[in-house]
Amino acid sequence: MNQTLKNKFKAIEKNPTLTYLDSAASSLKIDDSVQSMVNYYETSGANISRGAYALGIETTQAYEASREVVAKYIGANKKEEIIFTKGTTQSMNMLAYHFEKVLKKGDEILSSELEHNAAILPFQRVAKSTGATLTYVALDKDLRIDSNKALNQITTKTKVIVLTYVSNVMGYITDLKPIIKKAQEVGAIVIVDAAQAAPHITIDVKDLGCDFLAFSGHKCFGPTGVGILYGRYDQLNQLVPSEVGGGMVDEVELYSHTYLELPERLEAGTPPIAEVIGLAPALNYILKIGHDTILNHSKKLQQYLLEALKERSYIKVYNPKSDIGIVTFNIQDVHAHDVQSFLSESNIAVRTGHHCAKLLQKRLKTSATIRVSFQIYNDTNDIDKLLDVLDTAYQFFRT
Ligand code: PLP
Repeated sequence: MNQTLKNKFKAIEKNPTLTYLDSAASSLKIDDSVQSMVNYYETSGANISRGAYALGIETTQAYEASREVVAKYIGANKKEEIIFTKGTTQSMNMLAYHFEKVLKKGDEILSSELEHNAAILPFQRVAKSTGATLTYVALDKDLRIDSNKALNQITTKTKVIVLTYVSNVMGYITDLKPIIKKAQEVGAIVIVDAAQAAPHITIDVKDLGCDFLAFSGHKCFGPTGVGILYGRYDQLNQLVPSEVGGGMVDEVELYSHTYLELPERLEAGTPPIAEVIGLAPALNYILKIGHDTILNHSKKLQQYLLEALKERSYIKVYNPKSDIGIVTFNIQDVHAHDVQSFLSESNIAVRTGHHCAKLLQKRLKTSATIRVSFQIYNDTNDIDKLLDVLDTAYQFFRT
């Protein structure tokens, strides 16, 4: 691990033998983020938007300042287009709740087999309960979303399109713009799962033209428990709140109630205040160093690893053409979980299994794979250590 970053990422300092190669699952947390949360708990602890006393007002200001940072991070028009959620999963479920009330038989939902369960399961449920048809976009021979073919699948029946911006297993960046343009022509809503995109590529929602976009703070050096639902104001304003309660209501009568304006309308109850506050320094750090720096660094490490794996005929790589620093592979005839036990003994953290992308795993014709994912704090020493242990594991299981 990059020792010069150990002040920024305390997990490196506190766990010096750690080789962390699982940032696609969750990145290490930047200390500025941790300290801002500690500061909130040590100096405040007040709720937001409720108490009209100084501490409550200051806390609300810090919370809202974070919303500004997120709006800037993804190029939103205004901060009211940003809703704080628990994570990408909750954002997707909030959208599904709405579309369950809107779609009907004969409508079509278009998605892909590359989706994370967080994106596809809520919309499978929407299809089931509304009678809408769920269809999957064509994938090319590398299992990448085939944007050209997808265009032909978008018709006037298509009402909702749910697609991943970056695949969490293959590391492919989806060519979303032509798809979104066609969707706009037929009046379909486009929902983008940007959980893997947010840490690695600059997101510009205005330029993309998507209606909704979701991502999680914990993959962007920020805290767990906080995520984002972005919606273009006119679209977001139509969403039926999936939760009602305090903080989002305007008038309450005996048998009815009215809602506040956005963004409060979609943030019922006490939100994850510390985590929202902790998200801002994490995103600001990425904005400061630039997504290009992160992507170039991850891609260099990816190339280094791919070159080394080429020399190992016992390894099958599933995504040699990955666009970001994700390498998914298996040791021939050895189960990924057995390899993980070996790696874990050497304090090497990788992800093994189906990576919550069960449809894709079926397309890969395997029950489990090993996924290595890079971030700014990784270096070639991490890869050399990984390769040593992979060689040892192979020798062990061969005999
Ligand atoms: N979508 C993608 C592409 C992901 O990689 C993940 C997490 O791994 C999610 C959605 C779900 O994110 P969360 O668990 O933070 O809700």
